[in-house]
Amino acid sequence: MNLHEYQGKLLFAQYNLPVSKGKVIFDASDAEDACNEIGGSKWVVKAQVHAGGRGKSGGVELIDSVKSATRFAERWLGKRLVTYQTDKKGQLVNSILIEECTSISKELYLSAVVDRDSQKIVFIGSSEGGVNIEDVAKNSPEKIIYQGIDIENSNAKEEALSISRVLGLNDIQTKQFIPMIENLLRLFIEKDLSLLEINPLVINDNGDLHCLDAKINIDSNALFRQPELQEMYDETQEDPQEAEAAKSDLSYVSLDGNIGCMVNGAGLAMGTMDTIKFFGGNPANFLDVGGTATQQRVAKAFKIILKDKEVKVVLVNIFGGIVRCDLIAEGVVAAMKEVNINIPVVVRLEGNNADLGAQILSEANIAIHSINNLSDAANKAVELAK
Ligand code: GDP
Ligand code: MG
Repeated sequence: MNLHEYQGKLLFAQYNLPVSKGKVIFDASDAEDACNEIGGSKWVVKAQVHAGGRGKSGGVELIDSVKSATRFAERWLGKRLVTYQTDKKGQLVNSILIEECTSISKELYLSAVVDRDSQKIVFIGSSEGGVNIEDVAKNSPEKIIYQGIDIENSNAKEEALSISRVLGLNDIQTKQFIPMIENLLRLFIEKDLSLLEINPLVINDNGDLHCLDAKINIDSNALFRQPELQEMYDETQEDPQEAEAAKSDLSYVSLDGNIGCMVNGAGLAMGTMDTIKFFGGNPANFLDVGGTATQQRVAKAFKIILKDKEVKVVLVNIFGGIVRCDLIAEGVVAAMKEVNINIPVVVRLEGNNADLGAQILSEANIAIHSINNLSDAANKAVELAK
């Protein structure tokens, strides 16, 4: 689960990390009060979306009048912001973060991710932070340091020092940086993060380190034990079908092809998508109904797949391992009667009682192409999608 920048900065503040004084607004009429409350005469206004690249797309602006804050909020609230990190529809802006403007003398980069190979949290740092970090990674990778830190290690001084050297920090900044790394490590572990990024981490005109941006991703498998982070979930930032599927505990990822896939098991789902691709087709989604492909879940899955208007055919590929194919076939038939489906459906069942399942499908009075072999089934789906 992703957090908005303003939510990430609330966590940063809890962990004693230096962030700007700021206020989030959801209504343009609150912009003026927010600026006055923050004080000063220069502010930065930032559209809150689950995507970076806002600076390059008009989603971040430096302003010196409260009227400009109102105008910025009026321009963006309720609109969609397209950046190079979003799809072409962009992300809905429903809040704006207003902060006091920080003076910048240098922009650095700092992030952390879980590294499964070394079983450590790896901090990534560069002296060349800011909106062009992707170019640095591509053109001058030697300017980036990867420093693993053991999660049992509450004292990360040595590791912080090696990152500090690459960032080019002076002695005073290094003294600020060591507790910063230790606090980030604590935040990362205690809040079950899978990714944390501060780009840019800046050196301000006073020579102090300051976090100007915050990107945080929480490991969804651990959300059950992070109730206060669950509260921060913003459904408007998710693909609507993905959000609906998640509520029913279905794994659904929307893709841009036209063959809807309903499969049980992630491995089989990937194999099915590969097979569709092999025959020259394009999957419209990845949908894993899970181990228990009951009628209810199958019906729900059909409903979600059919919301995608690009879908021209549905390929159901289910393996009866724990469940029996005859039960699945009954579920598919009942679900298809329940949901009004007016595009072709290809069904391939394999596993326990596959023959009985195929018989149920062929005897049911519904338009199903029941095909027992995956290659033939995928080929048929590709043909029907054309
Ligand atoms: P992103 O483009 O979505 O990653 O948004 P950021 O929050 O990183 O902002 C983009 C850029 O705006 C930063 O790299 C800074 O150059 C600039 N910026 C953001 N906040 C401030 C600020 O308080 N003061 C100044 N001078 N520039 C800022
Ligand atoms: Mg940024």
